[in-house]
Amino acid sequence: MAPNGRIILNEIFFSLQGESSRQGLPCVLVRLTGCNLRCGYCDTTYAYQEGKDVPIDEIVERVKAFGCRLVEITGGEPMAQPGTAALARRLLDLDFTVMVETNGSFDISALPYGVIKIVDIKTPGSGAGKSFWWDNLKHLGEKDEIKFVITSHADFEWAVRQVKKHGLADNHVVNISPAAGMVPEADAARWILESGLPLRLNLQLHRTLWGTRRAV
Ligand code: SF4
Repeated sequence: MAPNGRIILNEIFFSLQGESSRQGLPCVLVRLTGCNLRCGYCDTTYAYQEGKDVPIDEIVERVKAFGCRLVEITGGEPMAQPGTAALARRLLDLDFTVMVETNGSFDISALPYGVIKIVDIKTPGSGAGKSFWWDNLKHLGEKDEIKFVITSHADFEWAVRQVKKHGLADNHVVNISPAAGMVPEADAARWILESGLPLRLNLQLHRTLWGTRRAV
């Protein structure tokens, strides 16, 4: 764990936002080190351990240098680091649009008002199916979004049950992301249409554009 005012940073890069209704917009991605889960489809395993202890001031300066107003703090799992809320606060105060993408297993209430939270609810097929902190639903605002990464039709049906049980699509964008190589995208599209729910198909833009590379 990094001391106060510092964060263990994996990487900062400029790319397109990939995991929400803002998909495709230019975005500065701030990837933090460490994750408490081990999803079977994880494509950022390099962020589990690799990273440098960096002052939040330095991260803010590096973000500013890209000249882009949209910033996403991701991981790994950003909520595993206590400095994430402070970093988000600093960026909001500088009028950035700040997104935090989280696996939903930590309490998100510490995040400042104004952060757009993209909250993953891990399906059974992820291998981390019981990890979601359900109280987090109480801390979602209208701009916040839910994401289910599905690895099978059974995962999709499970996601639909959660959407109905908790009324998730009433106030939030609910993204359905087919895991690469596990669910054909056209199948996921058909399941969404058959469900009758206003779910959003979230295809893996980065993988389509750049394969395992992260940007151009
Ligand atoms: S929560 Fe995200 S970073 Fe962590 S193991 Fe799962 S996919 Fe990988």
